[in-house]
Amino acid sequence: MSRNKRSLPALFLITAVIAALFLVPGCSWFGGEGEQSGKKLREEPERLTCPLCGSEVADRSAIDRRPVAVKVENDPDARPQSGLDKAGVVYEEITEGGITRFIAIYLCRDADPVGPIRSARPADIDIIYPYDALFCHCGGAPKTLSMIKQSKIADLDEFVGYDAYWRFTGRRAPHNLYAGTAQLRQAGDAIYPFEGKVDAAFEFLDRDDLDKMAADRAGEMERAAAEPAGEPGEYQPLTTVVNNIYIPYTGVCKVQYAYDIASGKFLRFVAGLPHTDLTTGGQLSVDTVIVQYVTLSASGIKDVRGVDSPDLGVAGSGRAQVFMMGQLIDANWEKASRGWHTRYLDNSGNEIKLKPGSVWIQLVPATEQVSID
Ligand SMILES: [Zn+2]
Repeated sequence: MSRNKRSLPALFLITAVIAALFLVPGCSWFGGEGEQSGKKLREEPERLTCPLCGSEVADRSAIDRRPVAVKVENDPDARPQSGLDKAGVVYEEITEGGITRFIAIYLCRDADPVGPIRSARPADIDIIYPYDALFCHCGGAPKTLSMIKQSKIADLDEFVGYDAYWRFTGRRAPHNLYAGTAQLRQAGDAIYPFEGKVDAAFEFLDRDDLDKMAADRAGEMERAAAEPAGEPGEYQPLTTVVNNIYIPYTGVCKVQYAYDIASGKFLRFVAGLPHTDLTTGGQLSVDTVIVQYVTLSASGIKDVRGVDSPDLGVAGSGRAQVFMMGQLIDANWEKASRGWHTRYLDNSGNEIKLKPGSVWIQLVPATEQVSID
């Protein structure tokens, strides 16, 4: 599972030390050669990137720590939420009655506050498990809670009484439970000490790859515009250009993403309005959107009204669509078992590298189809 390939070989370190000796100002015994090695050194410092979202980080302390997974609700009364803009990875899942909820996973960026925080669902366990994240939520059905306990996930259920959570007086219960990820992690570390490193969930594209994708998209649009009219069906696009993604969740949770060329991100809309953050007032924007088609089935676990919480079938395999840089890549997903990160593979079977920044995974019933234009 480990994809951490960024350790410097010892030989390179020794070479670096010797080369650095020749580069002390005034020491020009080996003139040109020394300068060449030195140039290489300056151009290739060790880049620290977040194993969850691919963002560059200045310091190891931002990534050598336990990810925090927070269950955030998406009832219209809960909007705008707080802190989803700081998450590295966000899952949007369907619950009873089609209303969605988020699992927002934080590593390199903290959010204070994040919320409103609500209860766990059975599918959360398979989703969170490979991230080895601290699971922050507010209770759940008794059977779900016993499944969480059995799974040995690092569980920080507010219902148990941790004081890292607080109620926001400006909002009515149950839409008023909040926390800060730093305080949650601190509370979690006291119970579940975290040593070691975070396993990379994805592989990421570099700057050259992203520039090429931007150029491919612009070239595709030019070719399509130059195509003579009256010959439909003959034009074969090399790249699937995407301006908008429409995700057919139930009315109040319907999602649209609109591509913004200037930022290279997708701007998020919910129920026809910009989806904003309460703290910043800014619209949520996402670097990589993954649509993962899943098969829903009855879990036998009921909510307080007696409605079944669907099992989302996130362990297994199925179709997927990966959107980044205003393009679509057709994909398949696979997750052999609970412990494995989900892999997203292109039509040749290669793992798809993602745009660094933020990854939102939209779990969509396989009976539905996302549309684009
Ligand atoms: Zn990150």
